[in-house]
Amino acid sequence: MSSSTKPVHTPLTQFATADGQLLVGGLPLARLAERVGQTPFYAYDRALLAARAQALRATLPPGLKIHYAMKANPMPALVAHMAGLVDGIDVASAGELKVALDAGANPQDISFAGPGKRDAELHQAVAAGILVNVESFREIPVLAAAAQRLGLPARVAVRVNPDFELKASGMKMGGGPKQFGVDAEQVPALLAEIAGAGLSFEGFHLFAGSQNLKAEAIVEAQRKSFELALRLAEHAPAPVRFLNLGGGFGIPYFPGEQALDLAPIADNLAQISAQAAAQLPQAELVIELGRYLVGEAGIYVCRVVDRKVSRGQTYLVTDGGLHHHLAASGNFGQVIRKNYPVAVGNRMDAAAAGEASVVGPLCTPLDVLADRMSLPAAEIGDLVVVFQSGAYGFTASPERFLGHPAAVEVLV
Ligand SMILES: *Cc1c(COP(=O)(O)O)cnc(C)c1O
Repeated sequence: MSSSTKPVHTPLTQFATADGQLLVGGLPLARLAERVGQTPFYAYDRALLAARAQALRATLPPGLKIHYAMKANPMPALVAHMAGLVDGIDVASAGELKVALDAGANPQDISFAGPGKRDAELHQAVAAGILVNVESFREIPVLAAAAQRLGLPARVAVRVNPDFELKASGMKMGGGPKQFGVDAEQVPALLAEIAGAGLSFEGFHLFAGSQNLKAEAIVEAQRKSFELALRLAEHAPAPVRFLNLGGGFGIPYFPGEQALDLAPIADNLAQISAQAAAQLPQAELVIELGRYLVGEAGIYVCRVVDRKVSRGQTYLVTDGGLHHHLAASGNFGQVIRKNYPVAVGNRMDAAAAGEASVVGPLCTPLDVLADRMSLPAAEIGDLVVVFQSGAYGFTASPERFLGHPAAVEVLV
C-alpha cells in the first residue's frame, strides 16, 4: 500500500464529472455505456476534438497549415469530424485514403506517406489527385506510368530522411539509417529523376519522430528541417509549394509527465514562416499531428467482471484488455511498462481505497491495464476508464487475440 514515493499522474481535467460519473460528450458514463449497449468501448468527445484543434490554431502562427495524420485514429466518423477542423489529412495507405475521401477531405489537401506503397496504391493516389510523399526511387517510374495511363499529373513531394535525429522522441522516425524517406544526401539525385520523369514536384516532407514532450527538441528539429529543406530546394525542378515540417507533439501519458509547452514552438514556427516567406515565397508550411490532436479526447471503457485478492494483492478483472488497447498494456513501443491514467468512471468522487491492478481476460500476464494503482474500492459491474486513449488504441491492438468480443467505437 505504500505509494508515497511513487510519481503520480498529472490530474486530467479535460473530462468533467457530475454526481460521481465521468461525463463524455455531456453524457454520464453509465448512461453512455447503456447507449452503446456493451462494454468494452472507446468513446471520443467531439467537443474536445474541436477545442484542441481551435486552441492549436489560436496558438500557432496564422497561415500555418495543420494536417491530421489519421493513422492515430482512423475511425471514419472521427476523420469526418477532423476533416472539418484541420487543413488536410495525411494518409498512410490506400485504405486510409478511402476513409479520408469518404470523409469529404479535399484531395488537394490529402498527402500519402509510407514505405512500401504498392503500385496499385500509387495509381489510386494519382487517380484521386492527392499528393504522394515519395520515399523511394522505385516509386518514380510507377507514378510516371500512372500519370501517363490516366492522363493526370502525378503530384509529388519528397520525404526526406534527415541527417539529424529528433532528440527525446518516444519513437524516432528519421536520422541515421531508416526505412522511411530518402536519405538527404540522395535527394538531389531523386529530384533529377522526378524532373526527368515529368512528375509534378511540389515540395518536401520531413518527419523526425513521435511522442515528444520537450519543446526545445521539437524547435530544434523544425529549425533543422527547414534549413535542410532550404538546401535541398536548390536542387528542386520547380518552386517549393508545400513544406511539411512534421510534428511529433506528444501528450502526457505517464506519472510525472507534463503537457507540452506550445509557446516556444509557436514562436519558432512564426520565425520559420517569416523566413519561408522570403526564401520560399510560394511554400505553404504544414505540420502534421496525430496523437496531439486526438489522443486526449478519447477514453477506453471496460467493465469489472471479477474482483480477486491474490496473496494480498487486489485484481480487478475486466472484460477489456490488451486485445483492444495494446498501448495501455505497455506493449506498443514502451521500453518500461508504466500506467496510463486510469479511473473508476462511475465513482469519480470516491477516495482511493488502496492499490489494485486492473487486468483483462486474456491468458497472458501481459494483459495489464493498470499495475498496482491507487484506486477507489471497485465492485463487479463498475466501469474502468483508461484516459489518453484517443490515439493508437482500437486499430493498433490485436483484436483477434484469444477470440473475445470486439470493442465498439463511438463519437459523442
Ligand atoms: C505516425 C505519423 C504521424 C503522426 O504521429 P503522432 O505521434 O501521432 O503525432 C505523422 N507523420 C507521419 C509521417 C507518421 O508516420
